Amino acid sequence: PVLSAHCSGSSDSGGSEGVADALFRVVVLGDPGVGKSSLVGIFRREQEIHEQQASTNEMYECTLSVDGEDTTLLLMDSWECEVRKPTGSSDSPMRIGHAYIIVYSVTDRSSFESASELRIQLRRTRQAENIPIILVGNKTDLVRSREVSVEEGRACAVVFDCKFIETSAVLQHNVRELFEGMVRQIRLRRDGADT
Ligand code: GDP
Ligand code: MG
Repeated sequence: PVLSAHCSGSSDSGGSEGVADALFRVVVLGDPGVGKSSLVGIFRREQEIHEQQASTNEMYECTLSVDGEDTTLLLMDSWECEVRKPTGSSDSPMRIGHAYIIVYSVTDRSSFESASELRIQLRRTRQAENIPIILVGNKTDLVRSREVSVEEGRACAVVFDCKFIETSAVLQHNVRELFEGMVRQIRLRRDGADT
């Protein structure tokens, strides 16, 4: 039961239909301004791949080599407006992802609260599924304006039963670790699943 990815603004740029089935769709969620596009942007630059795909601003295809194996992620960014769609609709961001990155800013407590709400919404929408989720506290470089401690972030991830990492898109700290962690999470589920 593989859903096809539909994104407003992105068109099939030729022959990607079959390939899409093999991709892992990773939806990046979080309040506006927390650094979602910055995180995804760094990662893309680091990978230096799929320049031709840059024409769509909603999905980025990236292949990572982790532990000697390649995995291709389809990173779905800029879904702020889509998130408000009813979760019942089949193209809701809450439904189309194989995995989720929920980002908040450590300098913005309300974004931390939004992250919790997104996690709850996700759990409600995808109840029976064990989907990989990583909670990300971004902007750790802004030490003096920190509002959410690392302990709070970690505790939240424990409650929500997901992975946790703090990053700085500006310093490019832990960004690679974030995406590698996502690949490992996806593989754990895949390898644990019945084939
Ligand atoms: P988005 O709305 O979640 O996609 O957030 P953006 O990636 O557009 O970032 C919003 C603003 O926060 C921009 O001005 C970024 O330069 C800034 N920003 C993003 N990540 C960081 C970070 O790790 N540290 C600092 N200091 N600023 C960041
Ligand atoms: Mg953005």
